[in-house]
Amino acid sequence: MSDQLSQQYLISLGNQFGTPLYVYHAEKIKQQYAKLTTAFKNSDTKFFYACKALTNINVLKYICSLGANVDCSSINEAKLALHAGFPSDRILYTSNGIAFDEIAEAVSLGIIINIDSLSNLEKFGQTYGRSYPVGIRLRPNIMAGGNLKISTGHDRSKFGIPVDQIEKVLDLVKKYDLNIADLHIHTGSEIKDVDVFVKGIEILFDLIPKFADLKFIDLGGGFKVPYKEGDSETNIDELASKVKEAFANHPNPGGRPLQVWFEPGKFLVSECGYFITKVNVIKQTDAATFVSVDSGFNHLIRPMFYDAYHRIENISNPNGQPKRYSVVGNICETDTFAWDRTINEVREGDYLVFYNAGAYGFEMSSNFNSRYKPAEVLVKDNQAHLVRRRDVFEDLLRNQIEL
Ligand SMILES: *Cc1c(COP(=O)(O)O)cnc(C)c1O
Repeated sequence: MSDQLSQQYLISLGNQFGTPLYVYHAEKIKQQYAKLTTAFKNSDTKFFYACKALTNINVLKYICSLGANVDCSSINEAKLALHAGFPSDRILYTSNGIAFDEIAEAVSLGIIINIDSLSNLEKFGQTYGRSYPVGIRLRPNIMAGGNLKISTGHDRSKFGIPVDQIEKVLDLVKKYDLNIADLHIHTGSEIKDVDVFVKGIEILFDLIPKFADLKFIDLGGGFKVPYKEGDSETNIDELASKVKEAFANHPNPGGRPLQVWFEPGKFLVSECGYFITKVNVIKQTDAATFVSVDSGFNHLIRPMFYDAYHRIENISNPNGQPKRYSVVGNICETDTFAWDRTINEVREGDYLVFYNAGAYGFEMSSNFNSRYKPAEVLVKDNQAHLVRRRDVFEDLLRNQIEL
């Protein structure tokens, strides 16, 4: 796997920058983006990086330099994207459940907006009428995704306007003469089966003719990446050919060509990331041998929050005798990264690296237990750059007001 950073190199970064440490490999992001653009090179498609996965400003700047667009989940992400150099017409704000002032602010910034409630659509109509094109996030009532917590398109999900309320949407479009530029669906995360996307297109095909101004359809993100040994990722070439086929079967739905958008988050930044931790303590018990690292769910919550699997390697002892361990953190909560996992013999002071740590790793970190957030390093053109310093004690008090 030559596109991976070597264990030797990761050790040197751990020594240089200390642990716990997030490391991102820029060239891997470029490689993932190229998979998308290559597969879709003959079709009118755009990719919006769903930046809630990882918003380090240097990562945003790098993804901007690749030519990608960006999808945001809050107005602050949109402002970070502007700061990173994305022009407003390459920034999409897919909102959910937000106050109308954020939509007004997004309009003032000139970015593209997807609205996900009838209530905000009505307010949008009252305020802007047809003067500002807008997209609608629909809930397709499709069950998909790796875990219920990351499934967003099913019929009990809060996300989007349920497709069965389409008549109400159309009433508002008519009432305010809205310029609906795109229809959006996002069914969830870790979707390996490309037919889920095709099913989404089929649902949209029925609706497209009802929207006279439509220019884009947005099929969301959620492409799967391999977390486990032997796992595979969503087959992007197959996706491209199936999307093409679906359009071939319904040429120009609504009477004109439509551009297709995707919003990959994980797919672009998961595998670029490595989380390096150091072993504090080894504790032998009857039930298990616990390895406590200098981290916890305050730094990487996916295993506890989603039962997510991260590959873990002992890079300090790659030829050690494999043994079974439970890898845990050092905070006062049950923060188990892995139960009963086979790892090369672990000694106190060894570095354990968690793979696929780029997406929703640092981004979901906190200062729980008053511990510091980790540092972040970006490796680009064979050079390692510190792109976020580790917290220091003052950071814990920074916003507090002492009486
Ligand atoms: C989170 C999110 C994505 C990206 O999901 P991934 O699983 O990281 O690809 C795309 N679109 C929307 C609207 C999202 O909320």
